[in-house]
Amino acid sequence: MTQKTPDDTKTSASSIPAARESRTSMLAAGKEFYDFFRVVQDYLDRAGRAIKLEPFVQTIISQPKNELIINFPVKMDTGEVRLFKGYRVQHNNLLGPFKGGMRYHPSVTLDDVKALAAMMTWKSALMRLPFGGGKGGIKFDPHSVSKNELQKITRRFTHALGENIGPEYDIPAPDVGTNSQTMAWMMDTYSNMVGSAQKQSVKGVVTGKPVSSGGTLGRTKATGQGAVYCVIQWAKERGFSLEGSTMTVQGFGNVGSHLAVILSRLGVSTIAVGDHTGYLLNTEGFNPHKLQDYVARNGSIQGYPGGKPITRDEFFATKADIFAPCALENQIGEPEASLLTCRVIVEGANGPCNPVGEKVLLDKGIDILPDVLANSGGVTVSYYEWVQNKRSESWTEEEVDAKLEKAMNRAYKEVSDFSRLKKVDMRIAAYGLALQRLEAVYKEREIFP
Ligand code: NAD
Repeated sequence: MTQKTPDDTKTSASSIPAARESRTSMLAAGKEFYDFFRVVQDYLDRAGRAIKLEPFVQTIISQPKNELIINFPVKMDTGEVRLFKGYRVQHNNLLGPFKGGMRYHPSVTLDDVKALAAMMTWKSALMRLPFGGGKGGIKFDPHSVSKNELQKITRRFTHALGENIGPEYDIPAPDVGTNSQTMAWMMDTYSNMVGSAQKQSVKGVVTGKPVSSGGTLGRTKATGQGAVYCVIQWAKERGFSLEGSTMTVQGFGNVGSHLAVILSRLGVSTIAVGDHTGYLLNTEGFNPHKLQDYVARNGSIQGYPGGKPITRDEFFATKADIFAPCALENQIGEPEASLLTCRVIVEGANGPCNPVGEKVLLDKGIDILPDVLANSGGVTVSYYEWVQNKRSESWTEEEVDAKLEKAMNRAYKEVSDFSRLKKVDMRIAAYGLALQRLEAVYKEREIFP
């Protein structure tokens, strides 16, 4: 497939209109505009200075390669035709196919997707995966449509993406608002768009599929599991005992719930949780399995009988050893950071701390295990799924976990060592390592023509 630039993709657009659109709507709603892409650019600048990054490399990776916006119609259950806005941003494919999740959420904007796509490039490079970075999504609330409508929206978007995705070109995965079912629909739609002889060989067009449809054991919990391996390494480094410690978790979806379940086996008690419906406290500790089952059945923590409702401020002020933000970006600004009193923050979510909040946290001596490292277990196990699809293999969960543990421990050590050596925080260290790896390849390959 020929490479596309932002100018020749069929539905490409510059980021400016979408940024203006979201800025306008946020200002109209009386909210401050948060430019997530700008934040990621600033981290890139800081890490670039720390490693004296070649200016030509910085120039290339400061913008995504391709930005697609697709407006597509779907006939809803009532017969009404609704137009949906879908995005796919392909940030970089120097090290391998574009790779990254698909988000279904009403707040999805092109700028956010650009930020998340760039972070996928750093994550793949940091984890030494043969992948680049991409991200996509559809701007709508998946809770507001029926299952039938959800399937039609997913299939129509996949069809509209057409050759812009593919097992050797751009490989989506689940993110906020999507799951293994979404991936099964995407894979099935894509496989119906290729010739009969290719059907079996395109399973790797998405990862995070149900195991019976070509997914891998260990993928559903992989992001939470990877974050747990980071927490274990952090605890070892700090001489901190996880047994008997406490945690608060914002976002009890895929990442947050698995993190809580796995850490509970190590004696970590989750005492406060929150999601888009509100916050709950249980000083005795939640049973994370029961809460996970409840969320699977009811869609949120709302109405869960095992906890006392508290406000968002009370949640952030709850004293605990570990705080795990596992919801959305820009959740911890100055006010939230001032309330927090934990020892460590493990960023299950992408970009949960904004730069002002982050400074307050670091000044307070709170350690931050940054997103690019802490939640990279998802893309790492996605890579294992892709390899299994290519080889028609199925690995045991033990094999997957063992490989993931080794990969996370190595990455943690590299980031921690780099942070000490260069006297930068863990986030800049993670970016720095990723950038060094990209820079080495750009220097070898140079610029075409
Ligand atoms: P999910 O849809 O399974 O869960 C999202 C959770 O966030 C839900 O509990 C939801 O209620 C909560 N939430 C949404 N809006 C909120 C708000 N305004 N306030 C508080 N809570 C809110 O999604 P997920 O896959 O668990 O992803 C969570 C985060 O982890 C995202 O930042 C995502 O990009 C990141 N991440 C996910 C993966 C993965 O493999 N799924 C991998 C890496 C990073």
